[in-house]
Amino acid sequence: MTDPRIHMTRGCLDFIDRHSSEEAVDHGVEVLGWLLGFFKGGQVYAVEALPCTRYRYQDRFGAQAEPAHEADIANAYPRKIGMVGIYHSHPFHGSEDATFHSHVDDNTLEQRGRGRGNYISLVTDGQHRYSCYVMGRRGRRKVDPSIVTEIPLDVYLQRYSCEVAFHVVRDVPEENSVSLFPTILSAITERVEESFAAATVEKRAVVLPQTGDGNGENTLIVRPRSKGVEVALDIAVQTAIYLPSKETPREIIQCATNEVSDEVSLLLRRAMESLGAYEAGSGELTLNLGTIQMDVSGPLPKKVYRPPERYAVLRRA
Ligand SMILES: [Zn+2]
Repeated sequence: MTDPRIHMTRGCLDFIDRHSSEEAVDHGVEVLGWLLGFFKGGQVYAVEALPCTRYRYQDRFGAQAEPAHEADIANAYPRKIGMVGIYHSHPFHGSEDATFHSHVDDNTLEQRGRGRGNYISLVTDGQHRYSCYVMGRRGRRKVDPSIVTEIPLDVYLQRYSCEVAFHVVRDVPEENSVSLFPTILSAITERVEESFAAATVEKRAVVLPQTGDGNGENTLIVRPRSKGVEVALDIAVQTAIYLPSKETPREIIQCATNEVSDEVSLLLRRAMESLGAYEAGSGELTLNLGTIQMDVSGPLPKKVYRPPERYAVLRRA
């Protein structure tokens, strides 16, 4: 009997079938991947499946994803949307219990499912047979997901858009790029939180009293000063949040604050990588941070980072 709490699209299953039959069976290795979707009112919705492409190790009897790969995938979705399960293949095709859940699988599920009701673990034999498990309060149980053709997001999730722009200037006594990062990040995080404290929810948008502050682009300018540097940061974010249930305005605003902070931190992290070994004495440095856009062409909205044409421009002192 199908479990009314576990919903999965036919697309997920077809994808897992293809991935496991092509890669696992043809190359004789275990494959794994993730189920992406959302939790809503004690139910889980698996909308899309995504393969692991960067493995820490991968052989016939086991595989583990690079943690950074997993983090990249998790960060690519707006808050409240993301991993709701994992899948992997077993090599024992054709045998009757090829899709059993091993002790290792139990441990993995327990680690990931902790604190999240109905986190899914799907095991396939690479030949169209699969078993599905979820972790509940009293350990794991085998479930039969209800398979649907489509999970339309506008039916299940409330979308709120949010457009903000910030301009922050700080004098920083430190001169080297490593110590700059935490200072800039905490300055902008503080600014984001300050601004959102005055936000309101209007129809399907989180609105800030004053936007348009900033140059509309994402840049970080570092200027040498007599002592240390001056840092000017401009950030413009156009994003959206997706909430599974009717939330209070305060919760909606909190979610938008966190989403914007996530994006700012992601842009800054990228910039810091290209900042490299900047020394204040070398001149004025402009870093173009690129942008993050919400790609809504797939079954789930996804944040896509677009790098700038040119990362860094240094005007020598
Ligand atoms: Zn297994």
